[in-house]
Amino acid sequence: MKLKGIGAAEGIASAKMWRMATLDLTVQEEVGRDSETETQRFTDAQKTAIAELTVLYDQTAERDEKNAMIFDIHRMMVEDLDFAEGVQDMLSTGCSAEWAVQETGKMLSDMFAALDDETMRARAADVKDVSGRIIRILKGIPEAAAMPLEPVIVAAEDLLPRQTVKLDKRYVAGCVTKMGSVTSHSAILARSMGIGCVVGMADDFDKLPEACILAIDGTTGEVIADPTPEEAAEYAAKRTAFLEEQGTLQNYFGREAITKSGHKCLVCANIGSVKDAEVAKAAGADGVGLFRSEFLYLDSPDFPSEEKQFAAYRRVLEIFAPNPVVVRTLDLGSDKQAPYFNIPDEENPAMGYRAIRICLDRPEIFRTQLRALLRASVYGKLDIMFPMITSVGQVRRIKEIVEECKAELKTEGIPFADDIELGVMIETPAAAIMSDEIAKEVDFFSIGTNDLTQYTMAADRMNVRVNNIFNSEDPAILRLIEITARNAHAAGIWVGVCGEAGANTRLTSFFMKNKLDELSVAATSILKVRKAICESEE
Ligand code: PEP
Ligand code: MG
Repeated sequence: MKLKGIGAAEGIASAKMWRMATLDLTVQEEVGRDSETETQRFTDAQKTAIAELTVLYDQTAERDEKNAMIFDIHRMMVEDLDFAEGVQDMLSTGCSAEWAVQETGKMLSDMFAALDDETMRARAADVKDVSGRIIRILKGIPEAAAMPLEPVIVAAEDLLPRQTVKLDKRYVAGCVTKMGSVTSHSAILARSMGIGCVVGMADDFDKLPEACILAIDGTTGEVIADPTPEEAAEYAAKRTAFLEEQGTLQNYFGREAITKSGHKCLVCANIGSVKDAEVAKAAGADGVGLFRSEFLYLDSPDFPSEEKQFAAYRRVLEIFAPNPVVVRTLDLGSDKQAPYFNIPDEENPAMGYRAIRICLDRPEIFRTQLRALLRASVYGKLDIMFPMITSVGQVRRIKEIVEECKAELKTEGIPFADDIELGVMIETPAAAIMSDEIAKEVDFFSIGTNDLTQYTMAADRMNVRVNNIFNSEDPAILRLIEITARNAHAAGIWVGVCGEAGANTRLTSFFMKNKLDELSVAATSILKVRKAICESEE
């Protein structure tokens, strides 16, 4: 059966489909239940939850004792007296065990969320997790099946970044999703992993059989369920041709990216982890143009400590030293949510509480990251970049906080480099329009075409239905890029592109005409972009 989606990450694969479960845990209020029966159901569910958490604890502790602690905390929460009493009180009114657990869980998590202490506030998400687990057990839904230990094509309604970072990458041959678009973060992750990915299958996703073999083409967006022998052979041939084409690009490995008229441009990598840095280095990146540091937060059960962050930044800087590494400070919110941040649901999260807005509002989180970065700076060439800037005032405030962190470290006798450049992402129309003023405050710009397109075209980057309007090649976007590049160069600072458009070779000549100094792309696109720059006349 031939199906269609949007090609989001190049790569051709054929493997068994593995569905990532999405659970429906909504509970409707019911009355007139027998409280004794419901109490028994609750007690049984508590026991099952404890058994599940014990297995999870043991499995995780084998690899990572510290991260396993979270399951121990959850176990204690299941047995917590306040929780059990709250449920009991509700059950005596004749409601169902599911409803009692949901409502008591909500009440407790709201209570935690209102506390001053950051660590206690983070417990709100744990309470939600624990009550969700008990409700799932009460509804008789088994725990999501673990990934099989063989290559599979992951099929999911939507792959949230939080789920994607938890996949065992060794066994992911490709992925297909119902929702999402080319610049959704799951597609970005797929590109960094070098696997084919088809997103936005919409209604075609619902036609996928329960169990099947999938053949996918991440360039065209074609998906075949249970291919015929002829189709399977066609895909195998396509895959060979694709790999051969990748092979010819190797001629550009280590070659300077310079246009025919002599403009030099760095080709750097977008990364999200230390592992990505290793891959990018091996793929021949000139440096890192965008380290999406939020993936350290998404992969963690709680706020990553200064030490944990320091270790990751230091390692990435060492891998690339003496070449530059641009680390972007936390860009959480919108589609990237970590439960322990307790960001309330928003009507419009892409335009809501995210990125630098959170960091300026909760400076303790920002300072921990800045201190870790500054401390790591002596291990390579660090540049720090700030996301979602909309005003000159924000930039000035950020610079003050950076100075305060530097002063703190100086007092503590902790060294940091003196050549750290500070830059901003130009990813809102406001920043592009004000780029002449902002340029006076910073050392560089990096244009985030994903968000710049979303906000300029008023088209949600995650919404399949407006995918045709979300177009980074639209003249409106190109004009904002021209303005930004002109203002950067007039102020004597460098400017690059780190959004997905950087890897669109139809735009390479336009970028070179505007004398962009750097293009930062997924590791898998580095050679393709190097070739396009070398072939450009500009
Ligand atoms: C962008 O918006 O273009 C960008 C690079 O940032 P992100 O994709 O992480 O939002
Ligand atoms: Mg962005």
